[in-house]
Amino acid sequence: MQPYQTIILAVDLTEESNLIAERVRALIGSNPTDLHIVHVIEPLSFAYGGDVPMDLSSVQEQIQDQAKAHLNEFSRQLAVDASHQHLIFGRPENEIHRLAEEHDADLIIVGSHGRHGLALLLGSTANGVLHGAPCDVLAVRVGMA
Ligand code: AMP
Repeated sequence: MQPYQTIILAVDLTEESNLIAERVRALIGSNPTDLHIVHVIEPLSFAYGGDVPMDLSSVQEQIQDQAKAHLNEFSRQLAVDASHQHLIFGRPENEIHRLAEEHDADLIIVGSHGRHGLALLLGSTANGVLHGAPCDVLAVRVGMA
């Protein structure tokens, strides 16, 4: 079996992303791999609906600028350049699937908290990515269950 050739690494840019990065580095080893890193920003309007009586665009811009800087910093530790860094607005599951299809990826990597109870019922991003994924999905266990 061939090693994975095109990998989409989805990160929420929390501390835990660094643990996932270590795992990715070990997985790739010295194989030539096309590695893309994606962070999805959920528009504030998704959370608050259209009902907020104020202009959220400057807040959204600040969030975008910070995320871009964090994504760039994170990507550098995996030697992933700007052309393979993706900052996208939307729902994480949908955008991660879309990017995987666009690049014909053979693996998506996410973190998983292995949650139980209510959080499991509600479903995590890792769960959402797994369902309907166009390729293999690796959920790296991070944090406490
Ligand atoms: P969560 O279910 O939110 O605890 O996140 C689990 C994993 O889903 C994270 O470790 C990331 O791999 C991925 N993820 C969560 N939120 C995002 C996001 N906004 N953009 C990209 N990936 C994300």
